[in-house]
Amino acid sequence: MPDSRANSAAAADPAADPAADPAADPVADPVADPAAAVSAVRVMLPLPLPEPLDYLAPEGMAAPEPGRFVRVALGPRRVIGVVWDGTPGLDLPCERLKPIGEILATPPLRPELRRFVERVAAYTLAPPGAVLRMAMSVEAALLPPPPRRVCAATEAGRAALAESGPGARLTAARRRVIAALCDGGACALAEAARRAGCGTGVVRGLIAAGDVCEVRLPGEPALPPPACWDQPGPPLSPDQAAAAQRLVASGRAGGFSVTVLDGVTGSGKTETYFAAIAAALTSGRQVLVLLPEIALGAQWLDRFRRRFGTLPAQWHSDVSQTARRDTWRAVAAGHARIVVGARSALFLPFPELGLIVVDEEHDPSYKQDEGVSYQARDMAVLRASLAHIPIVLASATPSLETVVNIARGRYQRVHLPRRHAEAALPQIALIDMRRERVAAGRFLSAPLVEALGQTLAAGEQALLFLNRRGYAPLTLCRACGHRMQCPNCTAWLVEHRFTGRLMCHHCGYGAAVPPLCPECLTSGTLVPCGPGVERLSEEVAVRFPAARTALMVSDLLSGPRAAAELADAMVARRIDVLIGTQIVAKGHHFPMLTLVGVVDADLGLAGGDLRAAERTYQLLHQVAGRAGRETRPGRVLIQTYMPEQPVMQALAAGDRDGFLAAEAAARRAGGLPPFGRLAALIVSAGDPDSADFAARALSRAAPHLPGVSVLGPAPAPLAVLRGRHRRRFLVKAERSVNLQAVLRDWLGRVRLAGAARLQVDIDPYSFT
Ligand code: ADP
Ligand code: ZN
Ligand code: ZN
Repeated sequence: MPDSRANSAAAADPAADPAADPAADPVADPVADPAAAVSAVRVMLPLPLPEPLDYLAPEGMAAPEPGRFVRVALGPRRVIGVVWDGTPGLDLPCERLKPIGEILATPPLRPELRRFVERVAAYTLAPPGAVLRMAMSVEAALLPPPPRRVCAATEAGRAALAESGPGARLTAARRRVIAALCDGGACALAEAARRAGCGTGVVRGLIAAGDVCEVRLPGEPALPPPACWDQPGPPLSPDQAAAAQRLVASGRAGGFSVTVLDGVTGSGKTETYFAAIAAALTSGRQVLVLLPEIALGAQWLDRFRRRFGTLPAQWHSDVSQTARRDTWRAVAAGHARIVVGARSALFLPFPELGLIVVDEEHDPSYKQDEGVSYQARDMAVLRASLAHIPIVLASATPSLETVVNIARGRYQRVHLPRRHAEAALPQIALIDMRRERVAAGRFLSAPLVEALGQTLAAGEQALLFLNRRGYAPLTLCRACGHRMQCPNCTAWLVEHRFTGRLMCHHCGYGAAVPPLCPECLTSGTLVPCGPGVERLSEEVAVRFPAARTALMVSDLLSGPRAAAELADAMVARRIDVLIGTQIVAKGHHFPMLTLVGVVDADLGLAGGDLRAAERTYQLLHQVAGRAGRETRPGRVLIQTYMPEQPVMQALAAGDRDGFLAAEAAARRAGGLPPFGRLAALIVSAGDPDSADFAARALSRAAPHLPGVSVLGPAPAPLAVLRGRHRRRFLVKAERSVNLQAVLRDWLGRVRLAGAARLQVDIDPYSFT
């Protein structure tokens, strides 16, 4: 690929590690050659192009500075792009370049964010324009806000208002409008009518008569100015205070640093990093908090508001386009002092960023698998390093990557070993399902049922965790054995009983449950196999008819508000048994919840995912951490068919560090991340032959280098996804290898046929 900037950015760092010390691999600002400074500039477009394109400065104007947003022609289209650093390549003679159409008044994209775009592109091997697109995702924010139209009384109107007596020209309603405009000042037409207590027709009549005129004012920033941040928080425990002090100190010291806030569930990590946020805000800096999407929950926002007296700006997929536009502008203008968001908030144009917090840093949802595949936690560290600011990574179960970075001395660690206010950590026990007799179609073992009964009898609450949406993961014909499969994917259809549909969880395909088996045409032979949360709630209802149960599953909740209402109902004890998927695992604090039952602990261990055990540990530990968070002790029962597995043993023993050490040893032996480098390449095409053809072309050009091994091509585990046939390569390399450079060279030598697509995933998390 001819993208020289991205190449040099990666080449500066042979390890191409996003978390590398920034001092070791500075990205020098390219120095423009003044002789070449004709009036051409490079413009990066938010499109998957390998490099910026050359354009001429608008006629009679100086070349716009790097960072300015400009509108240019690209074929028949008009596209907004960003003037980029560096000398134009002048692939075309100057006279054939197109001029820039318009220079927008939007504040320029700052150098720090431009370097960030380049570095993310270099690391992920995505076209820089595709990364830039994430930094300008709301086009409306780049355009001048639409002017406001307001009404004002004219001289004639004022004069008419002064007239009185029987000869007066104005009706009573018209007089009220003009009086309102004179007293209250100019305002929008509808507002004028409202103030005067009349219809808008009256105001329009006045405009037609020349007694009121409409004027245009420039738009105004929509977000209110910053609130006051300096109200004190709750008194911190000695542990918390010591931890907070270290976070605040690294903020004061300035410069880049990574601190891992490693605290058991319920230890008050949030309260502790709030102290660091308060300090950053007080010193006039902006703050970014990343939360796993799902945990952008009302409980967190409530706590934030209680602590800081106001809500932060929010940035995630449920935020409307209009709110995003306003937020983007408010961030760029420095009006939004704190933003809480999902991973894409990393690309917001903060001018004064002073602190980044990544909560639940181990959460797999930080890894984006579609489009530009990036790990937001790692890119957050990169962003902090480019901005020379501290970053805090908080978790009760830090990722192995983070633990290894602590061991290597790159990250510092502060530790909260105890729960707040003397609450004890829950007791965790395994239930060996090989020994339990559970009837067909039932999924709760006798010990779990008994514990549920005791919990309910004590007036306490229980949580049943099963990470499977729907009623049953497989629907099978009892007569002929036919399994209901997605027509677009290599996947079974999942029955959703509340909606009466069979759904594909990979592509969204859905169909009504058919009355007959589509294969043998017998009726009444299709049966559900295996449990989903909907089926589990049926079982609980049968066993405990008096218990009030509720399901917390993303597809049954209309949005964050519905999730918040459910959480409130739980806190208010209007629910006895909460049944849910992983969205119940994160962040919630339910004081009366004392029993957690994990229905199928082995679910996440299937498949070839290199992080399967680590993730299972993190997820189950997090679920377990919901139990007994206040005065009443909690207990956790884990149903498993593999109780001898190290991950289950470690959970039961509460031996996180032992588990991590064993996991690290296994990965080190296998040369797997974070001890080696890994990338996945997926080629896909609409038919199997084209996919094989493309895979063979890639295979022929595969590198033969020391320290690099290429596995595949092989059909991906999800061999067909959304109708596309997929072939996968895994590329393993030693840590000393610049994997990006190897891949760039390899892929640069292959031209794939038009129908084939290639997706590159550096350090893949998904092995489907
Ligand atoms: P974590 O994020 O480590 O799981 P939280 O920050 O959610 O822990 O704290 C657990 C509970 O303890 C919350 O209800 C929180 O409000 C409370 N808490 C933690 N620290 C304090 C404190 N210093 N003062 C009062 N309440 C606290
Ligand atoms: Zn059949
Ligand atoms: Zn599908």
